[in-house]
Amino acid sequence: MNNSLSLLFVLLLVITPATGNGQKLVARKTVGGDAAARQQRIARAAEGMRERLVAQRRDIHMHPELSNREERTARVVAERLKALGLTDIKTGVARHGVTALLVGAKPGPVVAVRADMDALPINETLDVPYRSKNPGVKHACGHDVHTTVALGVAELLAGMKGEIAGTVKFIFQPAEEGAPAGEEGGARQMVKEGAMENPRPAAIFGLHTLPSIEAGQIAYHSGPAMASSDKIYVTIRGRGAHGAQPHNGVDAIVVAAECITALQHIRSRRIDPQEPLVITLGTIHGGARNNIIAEEVKMEGTMRTLSEEVRERAKSLMRETLQNVTAAYGATFELKVEEQTLVTYNEPALVEETLPTIRRVVGDKNTVSIKPFMPAEDFSYFQKVSPGFYYFLGVGNRAKGITAGWHTPEFDVDEESLVVGVKVMSNVLLEYLDRHAAAAKASR
Ligand SMILES: [Zn+2]
Ligand SMILES: [Zn+2]
Repeated sequence: MNNSLSLLFVLLLVITPATGNGQKLVARKTVGGDAAARQQRIARAAEGMRERLVAQRRDIHMHPELSNREERTARVVAERLKALGLTDIKTGVARHGVTALLVGAKPGPVVAVRADMDALPINETLDVPYRSKNPGVKHACGHDVHTTVALGVAELLAGMKGEIAGTVKFIFQPAEEGAPAGEEGGARQMVKEGAMENPRPAAIFGLHTLPSIEAGQIAYHSGPAMASSDKIYVTIRGRGAHGAQPHNGVDAIVVAAECITALQHIRSRRIDPQEPLVITLGTIHGGARNNIIAEEVKMEGTMRTLSEEVRERAKSLMRETLQNVTAAYGATFELKVEEQTLVTYNEPALVEETLPTIRRVVGDKNTVSIKPFMPAEDFSYFQKVSPGFYYFLGVGNRAKGITAGWHTPEFDVDEESLVVGVKVMSNVLLEYLDRHAAAAKASR
């Protein structure tokens, strides 16, 4: 029994809960054989698309648009989906979001795939033919790759409609990096505007570039994979006085200094060391002059956790800490915690049933289990509606010097990852539909 066959059996065991029915297994083995042939066809098709994928990615890379300003990108996406014959194309969802359906010829469930489209306010320093034409804006998180891969999947699957058991819902999302101040946007807004309804997918998949692993590899984490993110606003209020007579006032700067240290004690002394938590104050502003006791200090920060419980506990500890420290010095405070994203939670059962597909496409040694990340992802809002699996697409290439991290001016990707991304996601979606269409049939 070769490796891929044994993996097929693992898959069978997952989807056929101990029937002990030999005939059924034989029947499914044949299906497995077809699946292997289909996988070959998908691989050939994706490789045939290589040049188009590269051109598409370069076009999007050269025309990066900031969060909630993805006008051109959304237009390119919608036009392409229309040309491919997708139906129910909705534009203008959460400003520039696009959703569309690819309805297969065979009955089956609905599965969704999501790609984000926005770029970052970073000046590109790469000297490449596909350099950003929009000064000060760059695809430095690889969302150009995500959009290109999803369009590639749409093209590939549009050519296989006859054998698709169910429907694939495509979700192209704006503003993953966060809407500008005062604006709503991103996944949360798309969900609010009904992107996950009519039809509601039974599962959702997404991918993110990962420069720390090589193109050709896929990384994943089952369970909480990326952190929740909350924006923190703290104001400390004292009372002004002459800088030489501090006893006549309440020094907001000294009190703020105590608060900063005390807030770090939440991490080090109040929350279980086994539970990931980050409290970072990234800005601090206060005071007007060297010889005036500062009346007010304003600080902004971010809090990251991998569990909703820790998140709630840390929030209440922050309030308690600020309350008590400021009271000790006669100052007052204001705390605002603004939810930005939830924990990206990869449903373990969904990860388990999907991994054999990924392993067959990229190979066992190229399927890497990794630790969770503290950066956040608003894919988590889709996962609140339907179970989801968000995995990482390797885009690094040490030999070619492609190693720069996310959100840096030098960020780049090995474009070979585009073909890999299309292959993996196409198989993941098709096999999800096959498994669940079969399960629905069996239970009828
Ligand atoms: Zn990013
Ligand atoms: Zn990103």
